[in-house]
Formats: sequence, structure tokens, C-alpha cells
Amino acid sequence: MFRIALASRPDGAPSAENFSHEAAPLPVPGEGEVLVRVHYMSLDPYMRGRMDDAKSYAAPVPIGGTMEAGGVGEVIASNSPAFKPGDFAFGMFGWASHGCLPADQLRRLDPAMGPVTAALGVLGMPGFTGWYGLTELGRPRAGETLVVAAATGPVGSMVGQVARLAGLRTVGVAGGADKCRLATEMFGFDACLDHRAYDTASDLRAALAAECPDGVDIYFENVGGKVLEAVFPLLNEFARIPVCGMVAWYNAGALGAGAADAGLSGPALWRSILVKYMSVNGFIISNHFDRFPEFLSQVAPKVASGEIRFLEDIAEGLENAPAAFIAMLEGGNTGKQIVKLI
Ligand code: NDP
Repeated sequence: MFRIALASRPDGAPSAENFSHEAAPLPVPGEGEVLVRVHYMSLDPYMRGRMDDAKSYAAPVPIGGTMEAGGVGEVIASNSPAFKPGDFAFGMFGWASHGCLPADQLRRLDPAMGPVTAALGVLGMPGFTGWYGLTELGRPRAGETLVVAAATGPVGSMVGQVARLAGLRTVGVAGGADKCRLATEMFGFDACLDHRAYDTASDLRAALAAECPDGVDIYFENVGGKVLEAVFPLLNEFARIPVCGMVAWYNAGALGAGAADAGLSGPALWRSILVKYMSVNGFIISNHFDRFPEFLSQVAPKVASGEIRFLEDIAEGLENAPAAFIAMLEGGNTGKQIVKLI
């Protein structure tokens, strides 16, 4: 089997040298374990955090350790009555061609129900993140206005579609004209702004203000950076900010020059939260998987009917995972980034 290990920790943006592609012996499943040949692997922004040796909600990948990832694949050997060869399953197999896990850490997939890749995106962790963060922490109400960036990604596109179905005005932010067109034409956003087309946060803010004539009630935070700086002064009283991620700052975090004017630093930030009665809620989706069956029962039928749409960006070959991952952090992906292994 092959795996991709963390060779060194990045300083800023990761590069190819931070990863090593290695051959490894095929694991032999122990009692209750299942051996899976991975067909598709997920690449997600959170993996950047696992490359740093910093205290966080999850332990870092050790140097020499296999990079962490969810994947879907076919069972090739099983020492559990729960799975037999030929079954398909999702599990945290890592950046690797094969994975061996206890049966209770696998989720069975039915290939007859649609593409198994959906378990990595729209009907997997990212889609669930968008659904949970919006419905539970965003508390959407018809007639309100929502803004979300990374609008064509698996989290942002779920947020936008669930909000639209709940009767909100949805304004996306995405990188480039093509992604903005996808946001409106495929995912039904009322408008989408290209953050790269505006030199400053205040220019982006002016364009957002024009698309949000009644202000912003929910800012679903995916990116931080210039988008946060642009949106923050537009938030209404009782605004909700589900803080999901801040990918603009994963490689290097710093407030922009206009952050203080936007009320985003020190006492002014705290005062805005107070006088606008804002709800700012961070969340880590792995703490909420008790709600996953509810998510699937609500959203899977809408995906099957086409009411909720999804987009995948599939790179070929495990050896190309580092390049696809590095590009994704800078917006190189269009839709859920997946790697096809076989
Ligand atoms: P995406 O597939 O959308 O990929 C990340 C996207 O971020 C890029 O495609 C790019 O889109 C955008 N981006 C990168 N840099 C910038 C920037 N400087 N300014 C604005 N946008 C930028 O990712 P996901 O949908 O998988 O994840 C979205 C967010 O949700 C991430 O922050 C992720 O960490 C977070 N997350 C959090 C979870 C939790 O438990 N809290 C669970 C899952 C995800 P574009 O080209 O359109 O700008």
C-alpha cells in the first residue's frame, strides 16, 4: 500500500516538501477489524491545522505520521460480521491507499443510493457542517439576509441552499467570476461577489451593502480575512455569526489594515457584540454527530430530488493529493475537493 506522511511542518503556506509519498506494508485486520481499499479520499481545510504543532481541539499529525483524512472504499477483508468483502464504507483511513479500522468506526454506504463520493461532501462532514451551523446556530428566519463566503465549496453551498429553502435572501462571496456564476446559477444564491475583484475590504463592503439593502442577519463565517472585515459593519441587531472556519488565515493570520475602522479590534469589537446583541458561536462539527441521522433524513431526499445540488472537484492519484490540498487552501478547487485513488 501507499501513504502520504507529514515530512515536516510548514511555516506559512504548505509546500510539496512538507509531504512524503511512501510504500508501507498492507495491514492485516485483527479481531473485529476491516481492511478497506480506498477509492476516494477527502481533502479538507482542517488538515492544515493538523500540520502545526499547536494546541487545538485535535492532536497534530506527528512528523512521519500519515496525514488524516476521511475516505470511501471497498472492503477487501473483514474480521467482523458487520462487513463483508465488496461492501462500501466511509472511514478515517488517512491519505492512504488502504485503511484498517474497527468495524464500529466505519459507516456503511449503499452505492445504489448514488455516488459514494457524496459521503465526503454534500452528505458527509462538510454538508453536515453547513446544515448544522446554519440551522442550529444561524437560526434562520424567512425574509432575513445571509452572507457566506467560500460559497461554492461544500460547506458554503449547503449553507446557501438551506438558507434559500428557508426563505432567506442569500448573498455569496467567492473567488472569481466563474465561481460567482456557479453560486447563482447552480446553487441559487440571489447574488455573489468576487472577493478578488475588490482591492480593499471597504470596496467589497460597498458592493455587499448594495446586495444587502436590509443589512445582514446571518454571517456564516468560513473565511475571516477581508470578507469578515467587509461584512462586520453591515450586521444588524441580533445578528448571528456561526464561526465555522477562517481559511483566509490558516496559512498566516493577521487583521487587515482596515480592521480597526471596521470595528474588528479590541474594545470596539466587544462593544459591537454588546450593543448589537450579536450571537457569535464557534463550533466543531465532530462534537455534534448525534445529529447526523437527522441531517441525512432531511437532506438526502433533497439531494436525490435535485433540490439541493452539489459540485465535486476530483484530482487523480494519491501522489497528487499534496498539490490539490495546497491549491485548495488558496481557492484552487471548484466544489468539494476529492482525490480519486483507483
Ligand atoms: P472549500 O472547499 O470551500 O475550500 C476552501 C475555500 O476557501 C477555497 O476554495 C476558497 O474559495 C476559500 N478561500 C481561501 N482563501 C480565501 C480568502 N483569503 N478569502 C476568501 N475565501 C478564501 O472548504 P470547505 O467548504 O470544506 O470549508 C469551508 C470552511 O469551513 C473552512 O474554513 C473549513 O475549515 C470550515 N470547516 C469547519 C468545520 C467545523 O467543524 N467548524 C468543519 C468543516 C469545515 P474561493 O475561491 O471561493 O474564495
